[in-house]
Amino acid sequence: MAAGRARTVLLTGCNRGIGLELVKQLLATPRPPAWVFATCRDPEGPRAQELRDLASKHPNLVLVKLDISNPSAITDAAKIVEGKLDGLGLNLLINNAAIYTPTASLATADAEDMINVYKTNTVGPMLMAQAFLPLLKKAAKESTEKGLSCSRAAIINISSVMGSIQKTPESFLKPVISYRCSKAALNMLTQCQALTYKAAGILCVALHPGWVKTDMGTQEAELTVDTSVRGLLSVLPILSEKHSGTLLNWEGKAIPW
Ligand code: NDP
Repeated sequence: MAAGRARTVLLTGCNRGIGLELVKQLLATPRPPAWVFATCRDPEGPRAQELRDLASKHPNLVLVKLDISNPSAITDAAKIVEGKLDGLGLNLLINNAAIYTPTASLATADAEDMINVYKTNTVGPMLMAQAFLPLLKKAAKESTEKGLSCSRAAIINISSVMGSIQKTPESFLKPVISYRCSKAALNMLTQCQALTYKAAGILCVALHPGWVKTDMGTQEAELTVDTSVRGLLSVLPILSEKHSGTLLNWEGKAIPW
């Protein structure tokens, strides 16, 4: 039941890592979504070849150029997607794209790094939700389902345990200050979105994918990207009202803020 049978899905940061694997696994399900909008910074460039190969085999996959640190690119992408949906709503928005500065300790973090990381990891997901809100509301309104679910309308913010204030002492060997602060803020954003968008029928959840072997996670990580994404996609269908505004891991276990 991948993605809780969402008929229309949009994801950010799809040319590599967890985003690319989410697209692959969504398309490979027995009943794939009617539309998967896979966005990335440069769909024509060499780093999106795998995505283009997938698009040539799957007519329901649409590649959209989108740099989430650029507010006007976000509104442009929303217009393109609205046109393609041709009256349908958007069931599921997965804010996956993010950046990470591995060397940012309290001694080395600077204003530029803090602002850049915050702009991509926190401001980007907030603007994405604002821009796609009309399409999410439309999906929620036109759904025959009651309550909150990923098949009706949902915003999933891919966050990190590194943003959990309570869990910080367990992982502080890697200070990654800018990343931690941006994900803690993303967790707060998720709770604010959950409280605000509940009335419109939109579920809002933050998910931690585990420590995953990607460019960001490095090859030392615990999980393959396949295992993490299988986990994330099996969590989506179980999400309901009681999970809105929470942080869960790829196995569906709650992580304290
Ligand atoms: P990767 O570094 O492997 O991939 C990041 C993706 O985000 C790339 O597609 C990249 O595109 C894209 N991206 C970065 N900045 C932008 C931008 N401004 N606009 C659009 N796309 C952008 O990361 P992962 O796949 O590992 O991470 C995916 C998510 O999972 C992130 O939110 C991350 O914080 C989270 N996460 C990952 C963990 C891990 O261990 N890997 C652990 C916990 C959380 P481009 O190729 O153009 O740079």
